[in-house]
Amino acid sequence: MKPLTEAQRKRLTLYLGECWHERSCNVPASGIVYRCVKCKTAVYPISEHTFTTYEDLGKLKERLVENGEWDLFCAYAAYVFAG
Ligand SMILES: [Zn+2]
Repeated sequence: MKPLTEAQRKRLTLYLGECWHERSCNVPASGIVYRCVKCKTAVYPISEHTFTTYEDLGKLKERLVENGEWDLFCAYAAYVFAG
């Protein structure tokens, strides 16, 4: 499975209702802890969602259920993956 793009990870993170953290322009792009310019949280790069872990996928499943979209998701997944 291909890794998700940054745009895809952003969309899923926002779907979870979480902040898509942003660095100020003077913070290097990777490798260090930074403070998000929007929510002011200290962000550890390793803590960003990859959506390749059971925990991330579980959060998405819970959100789909909360939003009443689980059945729709299952129908879509069956259409896409079962052909
Ligand atoms: Zn943030």
